[in-house]
Amino acid sequence: MTKTWNQKSERQVLGRAPLEQPAFLPMSKKEMDELGWDELDILFITGDSYVDHPSFAASLLGRWLVAHGYRVGIIAQPRWDKTDDFLAMGRPRLFASVSAGAIDSMLAHYTAFRKKRHDDAYTPGGKAGARPNRATIVYSNLVRSAFPNIPVVIGGIEASLRRITHYDFWTDKLRRSILLDSKADCVVYGMGEYAMLHLAHILDQYGETSGTPFSYIAQEVRGVAYMGTREDIPPQAKIVELPSHEDIEADGKQLMTATLTLERHVQKADEWAIQPVGKRAVILAPPALPLSEEEMDELYGLPYAKTQHPSYKEKIPCVDMMTTSITTHRGCGGGCSFCSLALHQGRRIASRSKESIMREVEALTRNKRFNGSISDVGGPSANMWQAYCKASPEKCKRQSCMYPKVCPQFTVNQAEGIMLLRDIQKIKGTKNVRVASGVRYDLAQKEETALRAYTMEFTGGQLKVAPEHICDGVLNRMRKPGLASFEKFLNAFKKYSEQAGKEQYVIPYLMSAFPGCTDNHMHELGNWLRARGWQPQQVQCFIPTPGTVATASYYARIDEKGDEIFVARSDAERLRQHHILIPSVGHKNSKASRGKRSSYTAKQTNAKQTNNKHDSGKRGSSRFSERDSKKRSRQSQRDPQSGQGKASPFSVNKS
Ligand code: SF4
Repeated sequence: MTKTWNQKSERQVLGRAPLEQPAFLPMSKKEMDELGWDELDILFITGDSYVDHPSFAASLLGRWLVAHGYRVGIIAQPRWDKTDDFLAMGRPRLFASVSAGAIDSMLAHYTAFRKKRHDDAYTPGGKAGARPNRATIVYSNLVRSAFPNIPVVIGGIEASLRRITHYDFWTDKLRRSILLDSKADCVVYGMGEYAMLHLAHILDQYGETSGTPFSYIAQEVRGVAYMGTREDIPPQAKIVELPSHEDIEADGKQLMTATLTLERHVQKADEWAIQPVGKRAVILAPPALPLSEEEMDELYGLPYAKTQHPSYKEKIPCVDMMTTSITTHRGCGGGCSFCSLALHQGRRIASRSKESIMREVEALTRNKRFNGSISDVGGPSANMWQAYCKASPEKCKRQSCMYPKVCPQFTVNQAEGIMLLRDIQKIKGTKNVRVASGVRYDLAQKEETALRAYTMEFTGGQLKVAPEHICDGVLNRMRKPGLASFEKFLNAFKKYSEQAGKEQYVIPYLMSAFPGCTDNHMHELGNWLRARGWQPQQVQCFIPTPGTVATASYYARIDEKGDEIFVARSDAERLRQHHILIPSVGHKNSKASRGKRSSYTAKQTNAKQTNNKHDSGKRGSSRFSERDSKKRSRQSQRDPQSGQGKASPFSVNKS
């Protein structure tokens, strides 16, 4: 059944008169009663606990929907052996929205070597085990049992990155679109503000959906995927064909074709995509367009309580770090092949205005709990605030705005970003401002004054950067800049640190067992580190998370061009590469295994190792602080348990 695709309706005024924002979104019938809500319009079910902060999608989208007139409640980390928790606030009027939380539940539960994790920064008390494996599927089926025939919308990184056929590392198998196993009506993929609002608006207009297929309802909405047939795509739509699930099963190389095509689908943003599976197909509407500055300001200016819901008895470990972290933008032009961001947020940057950011900091300084330190100001890459493409991004055929060289069309005034940081520092009550988000060093080198300022004023003793490797053969497959660029950056960092009279460190993110990386490459990296006196204690072993180009390489043992490459596939091969840099990993009696080894990441040549308490276990924390499911959407390779002040799960202590 087809419907006229009405582009104009995309961002027409959607929703109803705004509702008054509650102190917290309700989690119980009692709280609903206190708000005078006799029912909910939309029920959120999430695998994370409820922290009322824009870094949590349930909070961000929930408050956004309240601002547009819909009553939203949250069921966080429900029991999954029965439906009682799902029933707590009654049947919602419009639909149930299900998410595994800010990261894929399998990644949250298992290490790079498929060992069970024991902690969880997004759960009260930091204890693991509060959500099931494949939480999206489990919750979706339970909510259907609790409320028969209710429309179920799934979203978040787990659903988004599993929207078509994908490789599942934890079972070492291909899986069909998550739509089939979850039996959800649609996936909201990418950033969901307008998709959720649009769905609420349409379902509200329909009233009782009574048999109207979702494949009809969802046709007006950008950023959704649903099951259907070709007849369920608007007739005038441009359609891109993905290899069918069966084709990919028959020829693993087709996974690379599907992944690259989907990446392009996100970048072009004006086409529909279709993936046949059995007698039906996954239909993907064009992705959501990035929010405007005004919309970003509206979204981040909502009155988040910036703390955990008062019903929790135990502290949620991630809260402290998140409370003092300010999001400036979303999206990343990097397009690194291992990063899920390319398929989730895309490469276009959506930024907040300076005024909006300043207002948030001013409000933070009025909070009694604020101690004057802002732990981070940034986004997926700290120095991409206000960046834009001055050409036509929808026509662009590149897969990265940074690789092989920073694109001349990529426009960003990094000096403005530095001015922002300096002005934040001047706000009364603010003692120091840090940039903990990764700084894209190839971009930083384009503006020497900005690089100087990052180094001399805002690193807090350490600057996180992501060379990932030093061998160009590996870096090319990662879509990362070459070694020469990293060495140039290191020289500048050293020079400016000396000028500032500060002993400062670079924290390099490094990766082992990347597709195409051999033992020899790892030895080369080890020799390079030793020559500089660096002692890496945390190295990320590549995890083939669903949906990335690197994962397609891992599965099919080919590069992007289709040429065969070496891939360390077995645990033994992967561990062997890891041991080349971190010999103690996996050895029972190693210092690391006894938990006595420092989690300090790396020290720079000629510098004494610091005891800086800020070092400890923070690797990857910036990339996993889930700025509104944007930073944490970079789940592919970084520590998903950030903010705990403990060693990374992939560090020597845990791998
Ligand atoms: S033209 Fe350049 S800046 Fe624009 S999207 Fe393409 S790579 Fe990025």
